[in-house]
Amino acid sequence: MNAQHENLSIYNSLSKQKETFKPITEGAVGMYVCGPTVYSNVHLGNCRTFLSFDLVFRYLKHLGYKVRYVRNITDAGHLENDGESGDDPILKKARIEQLEPMEVVQKYTVDFHSTMEKFNALPPSIEPTATGHIFEQIHIVEKILSEGYAYEKNGSVYFDVMKFNDDYAYGKLSGRQLDDMITNTRELAAQSEKKNPQDFALWKKAEPQHIMRWPSPWSDGFPGWHLECTAMSTKYLGIQFDIHGGGMDLKFPHHECEIAQAEATNKKSPVNVWMHANMLTLNGKKMSKSTGNYILPNELFTGENEVIGKPFSPTMVKFFMYQAHYRSILDFSKEALEASEKGFNRLMDAYRNAANLPTAKDSSFDVTGWRQSCYDAMNDDFNSPILIAQLFEGAKYINAVKDGNATLTETDKDQLQTTMHDFLFDVLGLLDTASEANDGAEKLTGAIQLLIALREQARANRDWGTSDRIRDELQEVGIQLKDGKEGTTFTLN
Ligand code: AMP
Ligand code: ZN
Repeated sequence: MNAQHENLSIYNSLSKQKETFKPITEGAVGMYVCGPTVYSNVHLGNCRTFLSFDLVFRYLKHLGYKVRYVRNITDAGHLENDGESGDDPILKKARIEQLEPMEVVQKYTVDFHSTMEKFNALPPSIEPTATGHIFEQIHIVEKILSEGYAYEKNGSVYFDVMKFNDDYAYGKLSGRQLDDMITNTRELAAQSEKKNPQDFALWKKAEPQHIMRWPSPWSDGFPGWHLECTAMSTKYLGIQFDIHGGGMDLKFPHHECEIAQAEATNKKSPVNVWMHANMLTLNGKKMSKSTGNYILPNELFTGENEVIGKPFSPTMVKFFMYQAHYRSILDFSKEALEASEKGFNRLMDAYRNAANLPTAKDSSFDVTGWRQSCYDAMNDDFNSPILIAQLFEGAKYINAVKDGNATLTETDKDQLQTTMHDFLFDVLGLLDTASEANDGAEKLTGAIQLLIALREQARANRDWGTSDRIRDELQEVGIQLKDGKEGTTFTLN
């Protein structure tokens, strides 16, 4: 373990304060994050939340924890309007695109994975699906029914929030009082199967046209959305685990309902630390599929977007997002991205220069103290903007040494370089795109020069066949050789 792990504190949405992080099992962390509902391409807002948790995952691993990171795929049950009268968006999309629901699921799961890979986000340790855990969900419904916190009505099963509230208190996470909720929603009650409007579906009987359905003791139907996360988190992480994350908009009702389901089933609060990532906004409003106020990641990567107008690499976009703390709202704009891009390039240039710095007998910079400041930033609730500010300090110093205005010992140079590397690439998970491109170009040049040398040898041996073949076949792939007085040079078409 990295000794720094003892200093990590995390803001817990449940206690509403920062707490020193102590996992249930020493050296190991169980973390669950609500994954996407796969009925459309993930937008940049969704990406921000998943990238916020990629940072958490990476930093915990960097500290030496063995992390089991579970992030689900919601491929059934997430109804619009939270299940009261809404459609299943996957079924709706299947009708529109004339696909099987599972084709819709597959198409957008693949899109999600490829987007996350472009962002260099690490895959979770387990990625379970709702449809793969129907049995487990039915089992939890049976348990909640037997504990008396749910009731059946016309083949559907609802969670009895009022009954639960008497024994456990409902609303702990969101700070909402059941009495207030009742006052605000009284008029909805009449046409519902529910005893109270706050009750939520654990199991829904399927209408005839609802083709995603499974047999259960109550009806052919499907599980409620909140249930899948309780089933999958506790199955893979245990009935009490360390961290549960998701976007801020999931705090209520989704996460509140997860707590209620787990407490009703196991009589224990399921999660020690609840983490909520804040929203990405566009024109000051939450990025959201349903309002049309969103940008797709690919539009940014290709530049095919009227507002943005030029391409930005995934790693740059990730860097832009990490310049805000995960609990702050971040507004997306072309100007903000461009400002970020300049900083990103400066940082990468400095990192590349760090390898070739001259060394001296003394350092004029406290490298150890600076390295500690980088850890302090991350240990303070994963404060990436402060970390990035510290990395800029490191870059400033690298440039000063390069220009002869500061000095570094050999040991400090190594420490500076390693720290920049660790935080830029392991913790923030950025990619040095420019150096990757340079790297590719260098390899290509090396290979062409080898072919030029072989061609010269062939010509010296009067082996015109081989010599012409090398020239012609290179030309076919767009590489032109030119013979001159100084030898052979090449151009790429
Ligand atoms: P969904 O596919 O709608 O279940 O959303 C997947 C994840 O993206 C959830 O954790 C949401 O909280 C999160 N999310 C949705 N919109 C935004 C946004 N504008 N900014 C940040 N996260 C978001
Ligand atoms: Zn969830």
